[in-house]
Amino acid sequence: MHTTVRHLLAVSVLLPLAAWAQPAQPEQVSAYDDGGRIGPSTHQCSGHQILVRHLSLQNAVQKYGFQYSGCQDPAHHGEHPSSEGNFGMPSPSVCNWYHSGFLTMDINGKDVVRQDVKEMRLTETGARGGFQVIWSHPDAEVSLRILLLPGQNHVLCLLKWQPRAGATLKNVTVKFRCYPSFFTAARQRQGERHVKTPRTDQQEPTTLELVPGKDPWLLYYDTIFDVAKGEGEGPCAIIAEQTALLGGKVGIGGYAVNTDLMVKPEAGSLRFGLYDFAGSKNADAEAYLQAHGSEDLAQLLALDFRPGLVREVDVAKLKAEAAQLLNDAADDGVALKPKVEAVLKQVEDLAAKGQGGDWQAEGELAGVLRSSEELFWRLKTFAMLNRK
Ligand SMILES: [Zn+2]
Repeated sequence: MHTTVRHLLAVSVLLPLAAWAQPAQPEQVSAYDDGGRIGPSTHQCSGHQILVRHLSLQNAVQKYGFQYSGCQDPAHHGEHPSSEGNFGMPSPSVCNWYHSGFLTMDINGKDVVRQDVKEMRLTETGARGGFQVIWSHPDAEVSLRILLLPGQNHVLCLLKWQPRAGATLKNVTVKFRCYPSFFTAARQRQGERHVKTPRTDQQEPTTLELVPGKDPWLLYYDTIFDVAKGEGEGPCAIIAEQTALLGGKVGIGGYAVNTDLMVKPEAGSLRFGLYDFAGSKNADAEAYLQAHGSEDLAQLLALDFRPGLVREVDVAKLKAEAAQLLNDAADDGVALKPKVEAVLKQVEDLAAKGQGGDWQAEGELAGVLRSSEELFWRLKTFAMLNRK
Protein backbone atom coordinates (compact mmCIF):
# COMPACT_ATOMS: atom_id res chain seq x y z
CA MET A 1 0.00 0.00 0.00
CA HIS A 2 1.17 3.48 -0.87
CA THR A 3 2.20 5.34 2.30
CA THR A 4 -0.12 8.23 1.51
CA VAL A 5 -3.06 5.81 1.26
CA ARG A 6 -2.38 4.93 4.90
CA HIS A 7 -2.38 8.62 5.73
CA LEU A 8 -5.67 9.10 3.89
CA LEU A 9 -7.24 6.20 5.76
CA ALA A 10 -6.02 7.67 9.05
CA VAL A 11 -7.54 11.02 8.14
CA SER A 12 -10.84 9.42 7.10
CA VAL A 13 -11.25 7.96 10.61
CA LEU A 14 -11.47 11.54 11.85
CA LEU A 15 -14.22 12.49 9.40
CA PRO A 16 -17.19 11.28 11.46
CA LEU A 17 -16.08 13.65 14.24
CA ALA A 18 -15.98 16.54 11.80
CA ALA A 19 -19.46 15.54 10.63
CA TRP A 20 -20.92 16.51 14.02
CA ALA A 21 -20.39 20.12 13.05
CA GLN A 22 -22.19 19.71 9.71
CA PRO A 23 -25.68 21.17 9.23
CA ALA A 24 -28.55 18.66 9.21
CA GLN A 25 -28.77 16.54 6.06
CA PRO A 26 -31.57 17.47 3.65
CA GLU A 27 -34.56 15.14 3.89
CA GLN A 28 -34.03 11.85 2.05
CA VAL A 29 -36.72 10.04 0.09
CA SER A 30 -36.46 6.27 0.05
CA ALA A 31 -37.57 3.94 -2.72
CA TYR A 32 -38.10 0.22 -2.27
CA ASP A 33 -38.83 -2.67 -4.64
CA ASP A 34 -39.46 -6.19 -3.31
CA GLY A 35 -38.62 -7.65 -6.72
CA GLY A 36 -41.93 -9.54 -6.94
CA ARG A 37 -43.12 -12.99 -6.02
CA ILE A 38 -44.83 -15.60 -8.11
CA GLY A 39 -47.44 -17.78 -6.44
CA PRO A 40 -50.67 -19.61 -7.13
CA SER A 41 -53.56 -17.44 -8.25
CA THR A 42 -56.24 -17.28 -5.56
CA HIS A 43 -58.97 -15.10 -7.06
CA GLN A 44 -59.14 -16.37 -10.61
CA CYS A 45 -57.38 -18.57 -13.16
CA SER A 46 -57.32 -21.73 -11.08
CA GLY A 47 -53.96 -23.48 -11.54
CA HIS A 48 -52.22 -20.40 -12.93
CA GLN A 49 -49.30 -18.53 -11.38
CA ILE A 50 -49.66 -14.86 -10.57
CA LEU A 51 -46.88 -12.28 -10.08
CA VAL A 52 -47.30 -9.76 -7.26
CA ARG A 53 -44.70 -7.02 -6.86
CA HIS A 54 -44.58 -4.18 -4.33
CA LEU A 55 -42.80 -0.87 -4.71
CA SER A 56 -42.88 2.05 -2.31
CA LEU A 57 -41.77 5.64 -1.97
CA GLN A 58 -41.42 7.24 1.43
CA ASN A 59 -40.53 10.69 2.75
CA ALA A 60 -40.92 12.22 6.21
CA VAL A 61 -44.60 12.98 5.50
CA GLN A 62 -46.00 9.85 3.87
CA LYS A 63 -45.32 6.38 2.54
CA TYR A 64 -46.94 5.56 -0.79
CA GLY A 65 -47.02 1.84 -1.58
CA PHE A 66 -47.82 0.41 -5.02
CA GLN A 67 -48.74 -3.10 -6.04
CA TYR A 68 -48.45 -4.67 -9.46
CA SER A 69 -50.16 -8.02 -10.05
CA GLY A 70 -50.71 -10.07 -13.17
CA CYS A 71 -51.28 -13.69 -14.17
CA GLN A 72 -48.18 -15.17 -15.79
CA ASP A 73 -49.87 -17.99 -17.69
CA PRO A 74 -49.22 -18.09 -21.45
CA ALA A 75 -52.88 -19.10 -21.94
CA HIS A 76 -53.71 -15.36 -21.91
CA HIS A 77 -51.66 -14.67 -25.05
CA GLY A 78 -49.47 -11.87 -23.70
CA GLU A 79 -52.11 -10.39 -21.41
CA HIS A 80 -51.88 -10.59 -17.62
CA PRO A 81 -55.33 -10.59 -16.05
CA SER A 82 -55.71 -9.80 -12.38
CA SER A 83 -59.23 -9.91 -11.01
CA GLU A 84 -58.99 -6.79 -8.84
CA GLY A 85 -56.83 -4.81 -11.26
CA ASN A 86 -53.13 -4.79 -12.17
CA PHE A 87 -51.82 -1.60 -10.62
CA GLY A 88 -52.89 -0.60 -7.13
CA MET A 89 -51.94 1.56 -4.16
CA PRO A 90 -52.14 -0.46 -0.92
CA SER A 91 -50.83 2.36 1.27
CA PRO A 92 -51.23 4.72 2.99
CA SER A 93 -54.82 3.40 2.93
CA VAL A 94 -56.28 0.33 1.23
CA CYS A 95 -59.44 2.18 0.17
CA ASN A 96 -59.02 5.60 -1.52
CA TRP A 97 -56.79 4.77 -4.54
CA TYR A 98 -57.79 1.12 -4.60
CA HIS A 99 -55.11 -1.17 -3.20
CA SER A 100 -55.26 -3.85 -5.91
CA GLY A 101 -55.99 -1.66 -8.92
CA PHE A 102 -56.68 2.06 -9.14
CA LEU A 103 -55.26 2.71 -12.60
CA THR A 104 -56.15 1.41 -16.04
CA MET A 105 -55.61 2.95 -19.42
CA ASP A 106 -57.58 2.23 -22.53
CA ILE A 107 -55.89 2.57 -25.92
CA ASN A 108 -57.93 1.41 -28.92
CA GLY A 109 -60.12 -0.75 -26.67
CA LYS A 110 -57.30 -2.60 -24.91
CA ASP A 111 -56.19 -2.04 -21.32
CA VAL A 112 -52.53 -1.04 -21.18
CA VAL A 113 -51.72 -2.18 -17.64
CA ARG A 114 -52.90 -5.69 -18.46
CA GLN A 115 -50.26 -6.07 -21.19
CA ASP A 116 -46.67 -7.32 -20.87
CA VAL A 117 -44.50 -5.35 -18.48
CA LYS A 118 -41.33 -4.57 -20.40
CA GLU A 119 -39.64 -3.24 -17.32
CA MET A 120 -40.23 -2.04 -13.79
CA ARG A 121 -37.38 -0.43 -11.88
CA LEU A 122 -36.46 2.04 -9.20
CA THR A 123 -34.96 5.11 -10.86
CA GLU A 124 -33.84 7.24 -7.95
CA THR A 125 -33.58 7.48 -4.20
CA GLY A 126 -32.17 10.17 -1.93
CA ALA A 127 -33.00 13.72 -3.02
CA ARG A 128 -36.18 12.29 -4.60
CA GLY A 129 -37.67 8.81 -4.78
CA GLY A 130 -38.96 7.31 -8.00
CA PHE A 131 -39.66 4.30 -10.14
CA GLN A 132 -40.82 3.59 -13.67
CA VAL A 133 -42.92 0.96 -15.41
CA ILE A 134 -43.00 0.31 -19.17
CA TRP A 135 -45.85 -1.66 -20.74
CA SER A 136 -45.94 -3.17 -24.21
CA HIS A 137 -49.36 -2.49 -25.70
CA PRO A 138 -49.92 -3.83 -29.24
CA ASP A 139 -50.42 -0.27 -30.56
CA ALA A 140 -48.07 1.69 -28.29
CA GLU A 141 -45.28 1.56 -25.79
CA VAL A 142 -46.57 3.12 -22.59
CA SER A 143 -44.35 4.31 -19.76
CA LEU A 144 -45.18 5.59 -16.30
CA ARG A 145 -42.86 7.43 -13.93
CA ILE A 146 -43.91 8.06 -10.33
CA LEU A 147 -41.96 10.42 -8.07
CA LEU A 148 -42.14 11.48 -4.45
CA LEU A 149 -40.38 14.70 -3.49
CA PRO A 150 -39.18 15.61 0.02
CA GLY A 151 -41.84 17.03 2.31
CA GLN A 152 -44.71 16.45 -0.11
CA ASN A 153 -48.01 14.76 0.67
CA HIS A 154 -48.63 13.48 -2.88
CA VAL A 155 -46.94 11.54 -5.68
CA LEU A 156 -46.26 13.05 -9.10
CA CYS A 157 -46.80 10.95 -12.21
CA LEU A 158 -45.88 11.20 -15.86
CA LEU A 159 -47.59 8.81 -18.25
CA LYS A 160 -46.19 8.69 -21.77
CA TRP A 161 -47.28 6.78 -24.86
CA GLN A 162 -45.50 6.29 -28.15
CA PRO A 163 -47.51 4.75 -31.02
CA ARG A 164 -45.90 1.79 -32.76
CA ALA A 165 -44.94 2.20 -36.41
CA GLY A 166 -48.11 2.09 -38.50
CA ALA A 167 -50.45 2.20 -35.50
CA THR A 168 -53.10 4.88 -35.09
CA LEU A 169 -54.24 5.75 -31.59
CA LYS A 170 -57.97 6.29 -31.93
CA ASN A 171 -58.53 6.88 -28.23
CA VAL A 172 -56.49 7.27 -25.07
CA THR A 173 -58.47 7.15 -21.83
CA VAL A 174 -56.78 7.12 -18.43
CA LYS A 175 -59.02 5.68 -15.74
CA PHE A 176 -58.78 5.97 -11.96
CA ARG A 177 -60.79 4.12 -9.35
CA CYS A 178 -61.15 5.11 -5.72
CA TYR A 179 -63.31 4.19 -2.73
CA PRO A 180 -63.21 7.49 -0.84
CA SER A 181 -62.42 7.04 2.84
CA PHE A 182 -64.25 3.71 3.35
CA PHE A 183 -65.35 0.47 1.60
CA THR A 184 -69.00 1.34 2.20
CA ALA A 185 -71.01 -1.39 0.40
CA ALA A 186 -68.51 -4.14 1.18
CA ARG A 187 -68.99 -3.36 4.89
CA GLN A 188 -72.79 -2.94 4.64
CA ARG A 189 -72.63 0.79 5.29
CA GLN A 190 -74.13 3.70 3.41
CA GLY A 191 -71.98 6.77 2.90
CA GLU A 192 -72.42 10.00 0.98
CA ARG A 193 -69.77 10.29 -1.70
CA HIS A 194 -68.85 13.70 -3.07
CA VAL A 195 -66.45 14.99 -5.68
CA LYS A 196 -65.42 18.60 -5.36
CA THR A 197 -63.47 20.68 -7.87
CA PRO A 198 -62.73 24.44 -7.80
CA ARG A 199 -65.90 24.80 -9.93
CA THR A 200 -68.50 22.45 -8.47
CA ASP A 201 -69.38 19.91 -5.79
CA GLN A 202 -71.45 16.86 -6.79
CA GLN A 203 -72.78 14.02 -4.68
CA GLU A 204 -73.72 10.40 -5.36
CA PRO A 205 -75.38 9.09 -7.42
CA THR A 206 -74.40 11.15 -10.43
CA THR A 207 -71.92 11.57 -13.25
CA LEU A 208 -69.81 14.68 -13.08
CA GLU A 209 -68.76 15.93 -16.52
CA LEU A 210 -65.35 17.52 -16.25
CA VAL A 211 -64.52 20.76 -18.02
CA PRO A 212 -60.87 20.86 -19.17
CA GLY A 213 -59.21 23.95 -17.72
CA LYS A 214 -61.85 24.35 -15.00
CA ASP A 215 -61.29 21.26 -12.89
CA PRO A 216 -57.55 21.16 -12.18
CA TRP A 217 -58.07 19.27 -8.91
CA LEU A 218 -60.70 16.80 -7.74
CA LEU A 219 -61.32 15.99 -4.08
CA TYR A 220 -63.07 12.67 -3.41
CA TYR A 221 -64.72 12.64 0.01
CA ASP A 222 -67.55 11.11 1.97
CA THR A 223 -69.57 13.25 4.39
CA ILE A 224 -70.50 10.20 6.53
CA PHE A 225 -66.99 8.75 6.58
CA ASP A 226 -65.18 11.86 7.73
CA VAL A 227 -62.28 11.63 10.18
CA ALA A 228 -63.85 14.70 11.87
CA LYS A 229 -66.75 12.40 12.83
CA GLY A 230 -64.47 9.57 13.88
CA GLU A 231 -65.29 7.54 10.75
CA GLY A 232 -63.29 6.47 7.73
CA GLU A 233 -59.69 6.90 6.58
CA GLY A 234 -59.86 10.42 5.14
CA PRO A 235 -60.37 11.63 1.56
CA CYS A 236 -58.20 11.41 -1.56
CA ALA A 237 -57.57 13.70 -4.50
CA ILE A 238 -56.03 14.08 -7.91
CA ILE A 239 -54.51 16.94 -9.88
CA ALA A 240 -54.18 16.62 -13.64
CA GLU A 241 -52.63 18.45 -16.56
CA GLN A 242 -55.53 20.22 -18.26
CA THR A 243 -54.21 21.04 -21.73
CA ALA A 244 -53.88 17.34 -22.70
CA LEU A 245 -57.55 16.63 -21.96
CA LEU A 246 -60.39 16.26 -24.45
CA GLY A 247 -62.80 15.81 -21.58
CA GLY A 248 -63.53 13.68 -18.58
CA LYS A 249 -66.21 12.25 -16.38
CA VAL A 250 -66.52 10.99 -12.84
CA GLY A 251 -69.05 8.29 -12.06
CA ILE A 252 -69.88 9.01 -8.43
CA GLY A 253 -71.41 5.83 -7.10
CA GLY A 254 -72.27 4.77 -3.59
CA TYR A 255 -69.27 2.44 -3.55
CA ALA A 256 -66.62 2.98 -6.23
CA VAL A 257 -65.94 6.39 -7.77
CA ASN A 258 -64.57 6.08 -11.30
CA THR A 259 -62.78 8.90 -13.08
CA ASP A 260 -62.15 8.72 -16.82
CA LEU A 261 -59.86 11.25 -18.43
CA MET A 262 -60.15 11.34 -22.21
CA VAL A 263 -56.76 12.47 -23.44
CA LYS A 264 -55.70 13.82 -26.83
CA PRO A 265 -53.81 10.87 -28.37
CA GLU A 266 -51.40 13.29 -30.05
CA ALA A 267 -50.50 14.86 -26.67
CA GLY A 268 -48.22 11.85 -26.13
CA SER A 269 -48.20 12.24 -22.36
CA LEU A 270 -50.28 13.16 -19.34
CA ARG A 271 -49.09 14.48 -15.99
CA PHE A 272 -51.10 13.88 -12.84
CA GLY A 273 -50.63 13.84 -9.09
CA LEU A 274 -52.30 11.58 -6.52
CA TYR A 275 -53.07 12.38 -2.89
CA ASP A 276 -54.15 10.03 -0.17
CA PHE A 277 -55.19 12.27 2.72
CA ALA A 278 -55.17 9.31 5.11
CA GLY A 279 -55.95 10.51 8.62
CA SER A 280 -57.11 13.97 7.47
CA LYS A 281 -60.50 15.54 8.07
CA ASN A 282 -62.44 16.43 4.92
CA ALA A 283 -62.25 20.13 5.77
CA ASP A 284 -58.46 20.01 6.18
CA ALA A 285 -57.94 18.20 2.87
CA GLU A 286 -60.17 20.73 1.10
CA ALA A 287 -58.36 23.64 2.74
CA TYR A 288 -55.07 22.14 1.55
CA LEU A 289 -56.25 21.91 -2.07
CA GLN A 290 -57.81 25.40 -2.02
CA ALA A 291 -54.49 26.78 -0.80
CA HIS A 292 -51.99 24.57 -2.67
CA GLY A 293 -53.79 22.75 -5.52
CA SER A 294 -52.77 25.27 -8.20
CA GLU A 295 -49.23 25.53 -6.86
CA ASP A 296 -48.86 21.72 -6.82
CA LEU A 297 -50.17 21.52 -10.39
CA ALA A 298 -47.73 24.21 -11.57
CA GLN A 299 -44.86 22.30 -9.99
CA LEU A 300 -46.04 19.04 -11.60
CA LEU A 301 -46.13 20.68 -15.03
CA ALA A 302 -42.61 22.08 -14.62
CA LEU A 303 -41.03 18.96 -13.14
CA ASP A 304 -38.14 17.17 -14.85
CA PHE A 305 -38.98 13.48 -14.38
CA ARG A 306 -35.59 12.19 -15.51
CA PRO A 307 -33.67 10.35 -12.75
CA GLY A 308 -31.43 12.69 -10.74
CA LEU A 309 -28.14 11.13 -11.90
CA VAL A 310 -29.28 11.36 -15.53
CA ARG A 311 -30.25 15.03 -15.17
CA GLU A 312 -26.90 15.85 -13.60
CA VAL A 313 -24.54 13.93 -15.87
CA ASP A 314 -22.55 15.88 -18.44
CA VAL A 315 -21.10 13.15 -20.66
CA ALA A 316 -18.45 15.31 -22.36
CA LYS A 317 -17.29 16.64 -19.00
CA LEU A 318 -17.27 13.16 -17.47
CA LYS A 319 -15.09 11.88 -20.33
CA ALA A 320 -12.66 14.80 -20.04
CA GLU A 321 -12.41 14.35 -16.28
CA ALA A 322 -11.85 10.61 -16.60
CA ALA A 323 -9.05 11.16 -19.14
CA GLN A 324 -7.36 13.64 -16.79
CA LEU A 325 -7.76 11.32 -13.78
CA LEU A 326 -6.38 8.33 -15.71
CA ASN A 327 -3.40 10.44 -16.69
CA ASP A 328 -2.83 11.66 -13.13
CA ALA A 329 -3.27 8.17 -11.67
CA ALA A 330 -0.31 7.06 -13.80
CA ASP A 331 0.67 3.42 -13.13
CA ASP A 332 -2.20 2.89 -10.68
CA GLY A 333 -4.65 4.00 -13.36
CA VAL A 334 -3.55 1.39 -15.89
CA ALA A 335 -5.44 -1.45 -14.23
CA LEU A 336 -8.62 0.65 -14.00
CA LYS A 337 -8.47 2.00 -17.55
CA PRO A 338 -10.43 -0.78 -19.33
CA LYS A 339 -13.21 -0.64 -16.72
CA VAL A 340 -13.41 3.14 -16.85
CA GLU A 341 -13.52 3.12 -20.63
CA ALA A 342 -16.23 0.44 -20.69
CA VAL A 343 -18.34 2.53 -18.29
CA LEU A 344 -17.83 5.68 -20.35
CA LYS A 345 -18.88 3.87 -23.53
CA GLN A 346 -22.02 2.58 -21.80
CA VAL A 347 -22.80 6.04 -20.41
CA GLU A 348 -22.36 7.62 -23.83
CA ASP A 349 -24.59 5.06 -25.60
CA LEU A 350 -27.34 5.11 -22.97
CA ALA A 351 -27.34 8.92 -22.73
CA ALA A 352 -27.80 9.17 -26.50
CA LYS A 353 -30.72 6.72 -26.39
CA GLY A 354 -32.19 8.57 -23.40
CA GLN A 355 -32.08 11.85 -25.29
CA GLY A 356 -34.13 10.11 -27.98
CA GLY A 357 -36.88 9.45 -25.42
CA ASP A 358 -35.92 5.90 -24.41
CA TRP A 359 -36.86 5.66 -20.71
CA GLN A 360 -35.47 2.16 -20.37
CA ALA A 361 -32.05 3.50 -21.44
CA GLU A 362 -32.38 6.38 -18.95
CA GLY A 363 -33.22 3.91 -16.18
CA GLU A 364 -30.15 1.83 -17.11
CA LEU A 365 -28.01 4.96 -17.29
CA ALA A 366 -29.03 5.93 -13.75
CA GLY A 367 -28.05 2.39 -12.66
CA VAL A 368 -24.65 2.52 -14.41
CA LEU A 369 -23.86 5.94 -12.94
CA ARG A 370 -24.75 4.75 -9.44
CA SER A 371 -22.83 1.48 -9.67
CA SER A 372 -19.72 3.15 -11.12
CA GLU A 373 -19.43 5.70 -8.31
CA GLU A 374 -16.98 3.48 -6.40
CA LEU A 375 -14.83 2.94 -9.48
CA PHE A 376 -14.53 6.69 -10.06
CA TRP A 377 -13.83 7.24 -6.39
CA ARG A 378 -10.93 4.78 -6.56
CA LEU A 379 -9.64 6.48 -9.70
CA LYS A 380 -9.85 9.90 -8.01
CA THR A 381 -7.93 8.59 -5.02
CA PHE A 382 -5.11 7.22 -7.21
CA ALA A 383 -5.06 10.46 -9.22
CA MET A 384 -4.74 12.50 -6.05
CA LEU A 385 -1.93 10.31 -4.70
CA ASN A 386 0.07 10.18 -7.92
CA ARG A 387 -0.57 13.65 -9.28
CA LYS A 388 2.72 15.32 -10.17
ZN1 LIG B 1 -54.42 -16.78 -15.65
